[in-house]
Amino acid sequence: MESGTLLYEGKAKKVFATPDPNQVVQYFKDDATAFNAEKRGTIFNKGIVNNKISVRLFRLLEDAGITTHFIEQLSDREMRTQHLKIIQIEVVVRNRATGSLVKRLGFEEGMVLDPPLVEFFYKNDPLGDPLITEDHIRLLQLATDMQVAQLRQSALRINEILTPFFKDKGMMLVDFKLEFGDSNGQLILADEISPDTCRFWDIQTGERMDKDRFRKDLGRIEETYQEVLKRVCA
Ligand code: UDP
Repeated sequence: MESGTLLYEGKAKKVFATPDPNQVVQYFKDDATAFNAEKRGTIFNKGIVNNKISVRLFRLLEDAGITTHFIEQLSDREMRTQHLKIIQIEVVVRNRATGSLVKRLGFEEGMVLDPPLVEFFYKNDPLGDPLITEDHIRLLQLATDMQVAQLRQSALRINEILTPFFKDKGMMLVDFKLEFGDSNGQLILADEISPDTCRFWDIQTGERMDKDRFRKDLGRIEETYQEVLKRVCA
Protein backbone atom coordinates (compact mmCIF):
# COMPACT_ATOMS: atom_id res chain seq x y z
CA MET A 1 0.00 0.00 0.00
CA GLU A 2 1.58 3.27 1.20
CA SER A 3 -0.16 4.92 -1.75
CA GLY A 4 -2.32 7.94 -0.80
CA THR A 5 -1.15 11.45 0.03
CA LEU A 6 1.06 11.73 3.09
CA LEU A 7 -1.08 13.64 5.61
CA TYR A 8 1.31 13.58 8.55
CA GLU A 9 4.72 12.24 9.49
CA GLY A 10 5.55 11.78 13.15
CA LYS A 11 8.54 10.28 14.95
CA ALA A 12 7.44 6.66 14.59
CA LYS A 13 4.58 6.67 12.08
CA LYS A 14 3.33 8.12 8.81
CA VAL A 15 -0.36 8.69 8.11
CA PHE A 16 -1.65 8.44 4.53
CA ALA A 17 -4.96 9.51 3.02
CA THR A 18 -7.25 6.89 1.44
CA PRO A 19 -10.01 7.32 -1.18
CA ASP A 20 -12.46 7.38 1.77
CA PRO A 21 -12.00 10.72 3.62
CA ASN A 22 -13.17 9.05 6.86
CA GLN A 23 -10.30 6.56 6.81
CA VAL A 24 -6.50 6.78 6.85
CA VAL A 25 -3.58 4.35 6.75
CA GLN A 26 -1.10 4.31 9.65
CA TYR A 27 2.38 3.17 8.50
CA PHE A 28 4.77 2.12 11.30
CA LYS A 29 8.44 3.12 10.82
CA ASP A 30 11.57 1.68 12.44
CA ASP A 31 12.68 5.14 13.63
CA ALA A 32 13.03 5.57 17.37
CA THR A 33 13.41 8.77 19.37
CA ALA A 34 13.70 9.52 23.07
CA PHE A 35 14.10 12.52 25.37
CA ASN A 36 12.00 14.82 23.17
CA ALA A 37 13.84 13.59 20.03
CA GLU A 38 17.31 14.48 21.38
CA LYS A 39 18.22 10.81 20.98
CA ARG A 40 17.51 9.23 17.59
CA GLY A 41 18.04 5.79 16.11
CA THR A 42 16.39 2.90 14.37
CA ILE A 43 15.23 -0.40 15.78
CA PHE A 44 15.27 -3.07 13.07
CA ASN A 45 11.70 -4.21 12.24
CA LYS A 46 10.21 -2.21 15.13
CA GLY A 47 7.50 -0.94 12.76
CA ILE A 48 6.35 -4.50 12.04
CA VAL A 49 6.37 -5.44 15.72
CA ASN A 50 4.50 -2.32 16.84
CA ASN A 51 1.88 -2.62 14.10
CA LYS A 52 1.17 -6.27 14.96
CA ILE A 53 1.09 -5.66 18.72
CA SER A 54 -1.22 -2.66 18.28
CA VAL A 55 -3.55 -4.72 16.06
CA ARG A 56 -3.74 -7.44 18.73
CA LEU A 57 -4.36 -4.96 21.55
CA PHE A 58 -6.93 -2.86 19.67
CA ARG A 59 -8.85 -6.10 18.92
CA LEU A 60 -8.63 -7.13 22.58
CA LEU A 61 -9.94 -3.72 23.70
CA GLU A 62 -12.72 -3.67 21.09
CA ASP A 63 -13.84 -7.12 22.31
CA ALA A 64 -13.99 -5.65 25.83
CA GLY A 65 -16.19 -2.76 24.72
CA ILE A 66 -13.65 0.04 24.12
CA THR A 67 -14.17 2.02 20.91
CA THR A 68 -10.90 2.33 18.98
CA HIS A 69 -9.89 3.82 15.62
CA PHE A 70 -8.72 0.41 14.36
CA ILE A 71 -10.46 -0.94 11.23
CA GLU A 72 -8.17 -3.62 9.76
CA GLN A 73 -4.56 -4.71 9.33
CA LEU A 74 -3.41 -4.05 5.76
CA SER A 75 0.17 -5.31 5.77
CA ASP A 76 3.11 -5.98 8.10
CA ARG A 77 3.56 -2.28 8.75
CA GLU A 78 0.12 -0.82 7.99
CA MET A 79 -3.32 -0.64 9.55
CA ARG A 80 -6.45 1.10 8.30
CA THR A 81 -7.93 3.40 10.93
CA GLN A 82 -10.66 6.00 11.28
CA HIS A 83 -9.65 9.53 10.34
CA LEU A 84 -10.06 11.45 13.61
CA LYS A 85 -9.29 14.83 15.04
CA ILE A 86 -6.70 13.92 17.69
CA ILE A 87 -7.17 15.53 21.10
CA GLN A 88 -3.83 17.19 21.94
CA ILE A 89 -3.51 15.43 25.31
CA GLU A 90 -1.35 12.40 26.16
CA VAL A 91 -3.06 10.36 28.87
CA VAL A 92 -0.57 8.38 30.99
CA VAL A 93 -1.62 5.62 33.39
CA ARG A 94 0.91 4.40 35.97
CA ASN A 95 0.76 1.23 38.09
CA ARG A 96 4.33 1.66 39.39
CA ALA A 97 6.56 4.72 39.73
CA THR A 98 9.33 5.07 37.15
CA GLY A 99 10.51 7.41 34.40
CA SER A 100 9.50 11.05 34.59
CA LEU A 101 7.39 10.50 37.75
CA VAL A 102 10.48 9.43 39.71
CA LYS A 103 12.50 12.38 38.34
CA ARG A 104 9.72 14.90 38.98
CA LEU A 105 8.51 13.88 42.45
CA GLY A 106 11.27 11.67 43.85
CA PHE A 107 9.19 8.52 44.29
CA GLU A 108 11.14 5.33 44.81
CA GLU A 109 11.65 3.43 41.53
CA GLY A 110 9.05 0.65 41.25
CA MET A 111 6.79 1.92 44.06
CA VAL A 112 3.27 0.50 43.67
CA LEU A 113 0.66 3.15 42.81
CA ASP A 114 -2.70 1.92 44.07
CA PRO A 115 -5.08 3.21 42.81
CA PRO A 116 -3.25 3.72 39.51
CA LEU A 117 -2.17 7.28 38.78
CA VAL A 118 -3.55 9.13 35.75
CA GLU A 119 -1.59 12.10 34.34
CA PHE A 120 -2.24 14.45 31.43
CA PHE A 121 0.51 15.86 29.19
CA TYR A 122 0.13 18.59 26.58
CA LYS A 123 0.96 17.04 23.18
CA ASN A 124 3.26 19.83 22.01
CA ASP A 125 6.78 19.01 20.77
CA PRO A 126 8.23 22.57 20.90
CA LEU A 127 7.21 22.74 24.59
CA GLY A 128 8.49 19.19 25.29
CA ASP A 129 5.05 17.69 26.12
CA PRO A 130 4.66 19.28 29.59
CA LEU A 131 2.54 17.84 32.42
CA ILE A 132 -0.76 19.75 32.65
CA THR A 133 -3.65 19.93 35.09
CA GLU A 134 -7.36 19.92 34.32
CA ASP A 135 -7.36 23.70 34.77
CA HIS A 136 -4.64 24.04 32.10
CA ILE A 137 -6.69 21.80 29.78
CA ARG A 138 -9.69 24.10 30.25
CA LEU A 139 -7.62 27.25 29.67
CA LEU A 140 -5.96 25.80 26.57
CA GLN A 141 -9.37 24.51 25.40
CA LEU A 142 -7.88 21.08 24.67
CA ALA A 143 -11.00 19.23 25.87
CA THR A 144 -14.21 19.86 27.78
CA ASP A 145 -14.52 18.97 31.49
CA MET A 146 -16.79 16.09 30.52
CA GLN A 147 -14.21 14.79 28.02
CA VAL A 148 -11.47 14.97 30.67
CA ALA A 149 -13.62 12.85 32.99
CA GLN A 150 -14.19 10.40 30.14
CA LEU A 151 -10.47 10.30 29.26
CA ARG A 152 -9.64 9.36 32.87
CA GLN A 153 -12.40 6.76 33.10
CA SER A 154 -11.54 5.19 29.75
CA ALA A 155 -7.78 5.12 30.51
CA LEU A 156 -8.41 3.35 33.84
CA ARG A 157 -10.75 0.85 32.18
CA ILE A 158 -8.11 0.13 29.51
CA ASN A 159 -5.60 -0.44 32.33
CA GLU A 160 -8.00 -2.97 33.90
CA ILE A 161 -8.21 -4.86 30.59
CA LEU A 162 -4.52 -4.73 29.66
CA THR A 163 -2.99 -5.46 33.10
CA PRO A 164 -4.32 -9.06 33.42
CA PHE A 165 -3.70 -9.70 29.69
CA PHE A 166 0.01 -8.90 30.12
CA LYS A 167 0.25 -10.63 33.52
CA ASP A 168 -0.85 -13.81 31.76
CA LYS A 169 2.14 -13.31 29.41
CA GLY A 170 4.54 -12.95 32.34
CA MET A 171 4.75 -9.18 31.91
CA MET A 172 3.97 -6.38 34.37
CA LEU A 173 2.27 -3.39 32.75
CA VAL A 174 4.15 -0.61 34.57
CA ASP A 175 2.80 2.44 32.73
CA PHE A 176 1.53 3.49 29.32
CA LYS A 177 0.45 6.46 27.22
CA LEU A 178 -2.80 6.77 25.29
CA GLU A 179 -4.12 9.23 22.71
CA PHE A 180 -7.75 9.74 21.83
CA GLY A 181 -9.62 11.25 18.91
CA ASP A 182 -12.94 13.03 18.80
CA SER A 183 -15.61 11.89 16.35
CA ASN A 184 -18.73 14.07 16.64
CA GLY A 185 -18.27 14.33 20.41
CA GLN A 186 -17.47 10.63 20.93
CA LEU A 187 -14.05 9.73 22.35
CA ILE A 188 -12.22 7.09 20.34
CA LEU A 189 -8.92 5.45 21.31
CA ALA A 190 -6.32 6.25 18.63
CA ASP A 191 -2.54 6.12 17.94
CA GLU A 192 -0.81 2.86 18.95
CA ILE A 193 -0.22 0.64 21.98
CA SER A 194 3.24 -0.90 21.79
CA PRO A 195 6.60 -1.26 23.57
CA ASP A 196 7.22 2.35 22.39
CA THR A 197 4.26 3.65 24.40
CA CYS A 198 4.15 1.22 27.35
CA ARG A 199 6.61 0.02 29.96
CA PHE A 200 6.70 -3.72 30.61
CA TRP A 201 8.83 -5.48 33.23
CA ASP A 202 9.33 -9.24 33.01
CA ILE A 203 7.58 -10.66 36.09
CA GLN A 204 10.25 -13.36 36.62
CA THR A 205 13.44 -11.39 36.03
CA GLY A 206 12.43 -7.71 36.26
CA GLU A 207 14.04 -7.19 32.83
CA ARG A 208 12.88 -4.10 30.92
CA MET A 209 10.89 -5.17 27.84
CA ASP A 210 10.16 -1.82 26.15
CA LYS A 211 11.67 1.38 24.75
CA ASP A 212 13.67 1.89 27.99
CA ARG A 213 16.18 -0.54 26.40
CA PHE A 214 16.73 2.13 23.72
CA ARG A 215 16.43 5.14 26.06
CA LYS A 216 18.99 3.70 28.50
CA ASP A 217 21.19 1.71 26.05
CA LEU A 218 20.38 -1.58 27.77
CA GLY A 219 21.17 -3.68 24.64
CA ARG A 220 19.19 -6.56 23.07
CA ILE A 221 16.64 -4.03 21.79
CA GLU A 222 15.47 -5.83 18.62
CA GLU A 223 15.36 -9.21 20.39
CA THR A 224 13.25 -7.76 23.19
CA TYR A 225 10.71 -6.20 20.79
CA GLN A 226 10.44 -9.59 19.03
CA GLU A 227 9.97 -11.33 22.40
CA VAL A 228 7.11 -8.95 23.31
CA LEU A 229 5.45 -9.68 19.94
CA LYS A 230 5.85 -13.44 20.50
CA ARG A 231 4.27 -13.27 23.95
CA VAL A 232 1.45 -10.89 22.95
CA CYS A 233 0.45 -13.01 19.97
CA ALA A 234 0.89 -16.40 21.72
N1 UDP B 1 5.27 7.89 26.76
C1 UDP B 1 5.06 7.87 25.39
N2 UDP B 1 5.31 9.00 24.67
C2 UDP B 1 5.77 10.15 25.24
C3 UDP B 1 5.99 10.16 26.63
C4 UDP B 1 5.74 9.01 27.36
O1 UDP B 1 4.62 6.87 24.84
O2 UDP B 1 5.95 11.16 24.53
C5 UDP B 1 5.00 6.67 27.56
C6 UDP B 1 6.28 6.01 28.05
O3 UDP B 1 6.72 5.03 27.16
C7 UDP B 1 5.83 5.40 29.36
C8 UDP B 1 4.72 6.34 29.86
O4 UDP B 1 4.28 7.06 28.71
O5 UDP B 1 5.27 4.13 29.14
C9 UDP B 1 5.18 7.31 30.92
O6 UDP B 1 6.30 8.00 30.46
P1 UDP B 1 7.10 9.03 31.37
O7 UDP B 1 6.20 10.20 31.68
O8 UDP B 1 7.71 8.33 32.52
O9 UDP B 1 8.15 9.63 30.39
P2 UDP B 1 9.67 9.36 30.04
O10 UDP B 1 10.34 8.72 31.21
O11 UDP B 1 9.56 8.50 28.83
O12 UDP B 1 10.17 10.73 29.74
